[in-house]
Amino acid sequence: MKKLENKNIIVTAAGQGIGRATAIAYSKEGANVIATDINEKTLKSLSNEFPNIKVNILDSTKNNDIKDFFSKIDKVDVLFNAVGYVHHGTIIECDENDWDFSFDVNVKSMYFMIKETLPKMIKQNKGNIINMSSIASSLRGLPNRFVYGTTKAAIVGLTKSIAADFIKNNIRCNVIAPGTVHTPSWEERVAAAPDPAKAKKDFIARQPMGRLGRADEIAALAVYLASNESDFVTGVVHSIDGGMSI
Ligand code: NAD
Repeated sequence: MKKLENKNIIVTAAGQGIGRATAIAYSKEGANVIATDINEKTLKSLSNEFPNIKVNILDSTKNNDIKDFFSKIDKVDVLFNAVGYVHHGTIIECDENDWDFSFDVNVKSMYFMIKETLPKMIKQNKGNIINMSSIASSLRGLPNRFVYGTTKAAIVGLTKSIAADFIKNNIRCNVIAPGTVHTPSWEERVAAAPDPAKAKKDFIARQPMGRLGRADEIAALAVYLASNESDFVTGVVHSIDGGMSI
């Protein structure tokens, strides 16, 4: 028996990285997956490789598009909000646009997606929401992650609040907080550093296990949280970080 047989699951930011790996893992466990992203090209490559995964271009910051998307969807068992953007810098490098953009992509997107999902879950008297945060949040302060960490801490508050408000509706809401994971955007962050070789070494050095995480390792936790095996788990921040938060 597969772990997610017949569950209808929506994944945001599924074009690459952790979102993609999770959409694939969910599909392999028998779920009916709708993978969303703003990137048409990466979504197309996902559906070419995994024809069982439905794909839908969706900007998680556009409320009207999200409303339209959900108006065509009947039942949602699991919503996995993977969308996120990393701004590099301290408060000094973070201007108002950086602040607004980071909050729009990282937090408001989840507010929009959850607001449209919840009425369906309440009607079903069952539902499950998983939100992507980071170790760089209320769990641990990291240098040059001012607005990123602030948004990721907000996701913890958002999650706990939803978990508390809808527990009687049989709706669970949890957070995944990874350490550094090898994904396309991590590669871009390394390449954009003044000294990429040093940046790579520094990223790895801050992981006590001495290596980066893999997207499929995060996906395995996302499978557990989406499955009935975690039915007694809600409102919790699940660190998966190679020891970074010890
Ligand atoms: P990534 O950054 O490589 O890819 C992000 C994806 O999001 C892309 O496919 C992009 O097209 C999509 N996207 C961007 N803006 C969007 C929008 N407005 N609407 C819809 N899609 C949009 O992916 P990643 O590194 O796997 O990160 C995924 C999540 O995990 C993020 O929330 C990130 O903050 C979090 N996270 C990542 C790491 C890491 O080290 N990679 C660590 C901790 C947390």
